[in-house]
Amino acid sequence: MSPTPLLDVAGLETHFPVRKGLLRRQVGSVRAVDGVSFSIAKGRTLGLVGESGCGKTTVGRSVLRLVEPTAGAVRFAGADVRAMHGAALAALRRRMQIVFQDPYGSLNPRMTIRAILEEGLVIHRLGAADERLARMRSALERTGLAASALERYPHEFSGGQRQRIAIARALVLEPEFLVLDEPVSALDVSIQAQVVNLLVDLREQLGLTYLFISHDLSVVEHVADEVAVMYLGRIVEHATADALYRVPLHPYTLALFSAVPRIDPAHRRRRIVLTGDVPSPARPPAGCRFHPRCPLAESVCRSVDPPATVVEGHRVHCHVAARELDRGGTAAAAARRIAEMMTAGAADKIVTGGGA
Ligand code: SF4
Repeated sequence: MSPTPLLDVAGLETHFPVRKGLLRRQVGSVRAVDGVSFSIAKGRTLGLVGESGCGKTTVGRSVLRLVEPTAGAVRFAGADVRAMHGAALAALRRRMQIVFQDPYGSLNPRMTIRAILEEGLVIHRLGAADERLARMRSALERTGLAASALERYPHEFSGGQRQRIAIARALVLEPEFLVLDEPVSALDVSIQAQVVNLLVDLREQLGLTYLFISHDLSVVEHVADEVAVMYLGRIVEHATADALYRVPLHPYTLALFSAVPRIDPAHRRRRIVLTGDVPSPARPPAGCRFHPRCPLAESVCRSVDPPATVVEGHRVHCHVAARELDRGGTAAAAARRIAEMMTAGAADKIVTGGGA
């Protein structure tokens, strides 16, 4: 039996109005998130991956109600997040924190680290002055920084150290759940591994639960227990990390994986470069949203939204994957056939290169 989820998201939609003219009349809406469902058990990490603009950041912000969802349910520890207001919502926000991508933009350059860390404690009225100081020191030490950092300013720190401060700012409130929104993308590659390892250690030490948002599959591989792949506001494949990295089934997942550099020749995949741009989320295509760029698209893909097929730890939305799985054999055998079709069978729509 799967463990009780700490976070449960069902049918989440977040649409933004498009307004035009002098009267700013609404003429449409951008469907940034359009029917996303997932759950995360306590102490686990869900990686949410996809290209820029696929809606993954909006999912993270909608879960925390930093943007208001249009529809769907968000439950945290059994409580209905969308029904909360005032003091109840403020108390919930202490338990659910976010770390942003940009360690330069997310820290106010005019505030000392003490003021940055103390702000949340003051807002949530947590502890007397000496208790706040102890909490701030402890949060800094947990992230590998000395307590002397409290009297300094953000510009005195490197990018990696600033991201540690941003993590300490979240930790000082003693949250249970963190949305990590591209937490290492702005850092040098040499620093990325250190911050990823820190996040993994903190999760173990503090029993934290993560929604880890990233465009980088190789970073997610080191952190996530499960991975959900997003395309144009929807999750197209969701699987345990082990199942997804061994046996990617959705053509879009395969294309993303083919771009990940691998040192080990045994794990290299032929590069699949998708043609065309991602369609506008204001006018998503009918049927499968990936069909204008998919080398395997068939007529059914242009009109029928693919339902979920569940197999061997995967939940995949693809007509061709469903048919290949239906032919029998293992998911790995189906994945191999789909990969062969992707790299060989549709050469008119894809450009293939050497090992990535
Ligand atoms: Fe490609 Fe069709 Fe599968 Fe969509 S449903 S990913 S268009 S094969």
